[in-house]
Amino acid sequence: MKNTKKLFSRACRVLVGGVNSPVRAFRAVGGTPVFAAQGRGSRLTDAGGKRYIDYCLSWGPLILGHAHPAVTRAAVLAAARGATFGMPTEGEVLLAEEIRRAFPSMERVRLTSSGTEAVMSALRLARAATGRDVIVKFSGCYHGHSDGLLVAAGSGALTLGRPDSAGVPKAWARMTLVLPYNDVRAVETAFRRAGRAIAAVIVEPVVGNMGVVLPAPGFLETLRRLTARHGALLVFDEVITGFRVALGGAQERYKIRPDLTCLGKIVGGGFPIGAYGGRRDLMERVAPLGPVYQAGTLSGNPVAVAAGLACLRELRRRRPYGALEKLTRRLADGIAESARQAGVPARVQAAASMFTVFFTPDPVTDYASAKRADTKRYARFFHSLLEQGVYFPPAQFEAAFLSTAHTGADIDRTLEAVRRAFRAAF
Ligand SMILES: *Cc1c(COP(=O)(O)O)cnc(C)c1O
Repeated sequence: MKNTKKLFSRACRVLVGGVNSPVRAFRAVGGTPVFAAQGRGSRLTDAGGKRYIDYCLSWGPLILGHAHPAVTRAAVLAAARGATFGMPTEGEVLLAEEIRRAFPSMERVRLTSSGTEAVMSALRLARAATGRDVIVKFSGCYHGHSDGLLVAAGSGALTLGRPDSAGVPKAWARMTLVLPYNDVRAVETAFRRAGRAIAAVIVEPVVGNMGVVLPAPGFLETLRRLTARHGALLVFDEVITGFRVALGGAQERYKIRPDLTCLGKIVGGGFPIGAYGGRRDLMERVAPLGPVYQAGTLSGNPVAVAAGLACLRELRRRRPYGALEKLTRRLADGIAESARQAGVPARVQAAASMFTVFFTPDPVTDYASAKRADTKRYARFFHSLLEQGVYFPPAQFEAAFLSTAHTGADIDRTLEAVRRAFRAAF
């Protein structure tokens, strides 16, 4: 702990806020961030030598747990062969084939270096293909930090967006229409009024970024139907859900075929990567075949590609999804039961191996209902668990994850810590 405080004050003198991505700074829960020193399987060790069962897992990529031997080995061997060439490599072909096998809708694939880039590029393509400018997104869904997507809802239900970050031009934010998640009526109205201007609807088909929120029955189907009818594209942002809620992501689970899909996180096995892809006729508009420019010095980087390929192959071979879901169910049900016994109003929402404990008595179906959760309670819950060696995401509106390395014993220990947290902190 002493070590951590010292490190953090040094960090703050050289890095902005001491971190390289804002949520790591623990602003949502208070206190000093945990500095990671090493991880193995479900366990994380911090810079002071304290160990935790990790349910944040680098925010989603580590579905096989920390330092999985097959992934590590692939990355080390690739690095030893040469970290980057700026030329095509066989690994990229193999990874793209592996992706297409799991996601048949991705007839052609382009690799990038991050999820942000994948989404940004997919939307450029959507605008080019439709000749339209407006993008529909849903409040509380996160699609990376590109200008056009850091946009909040305007004051009316159907006003165009306003910047959600300093430095985003108002004019650019107006190219994005922000609607409430799961609100079929709002989408219908948007298409009725502005259908001819809408290039694409982008959605997290299962939301991770306001905490776990499931699509209401019929919601995704409506998006598919309306976009098709109005000549707009449906873009699934499966950066979290791809290879997470099923091998073939949410589109496999809900049997919806989007026009374009964005991937990241798991696809790189813990290394920086993103991917977008979809209908061949659309993807062939991307350079060098078409007029939509998009490029990257380290796109399809051999080390990230090797790690990602090892990870995806392991997932295809093991098909861990049933077991992961069962284990997650056990944890989620156990937490809900403890909360009930302690008289703490809480909703545990889960999809496959992702879940969120919302401190609210009501179901969370969109950003407005998520915002009703008691974030101070979440902070107390988080710190009590942290103290006991269990690491949950350091913010209420985030998904927690399980990996194939988590065991029944991990769940038992975690539930014990949860019971104590509810007793102590509420
Ligand atoms: C993480 C995330 C992104 C952004 O990916 P980065 O690799 O962080 O740029 C985009 N969309 C969703 C749904 C994400 O969860």
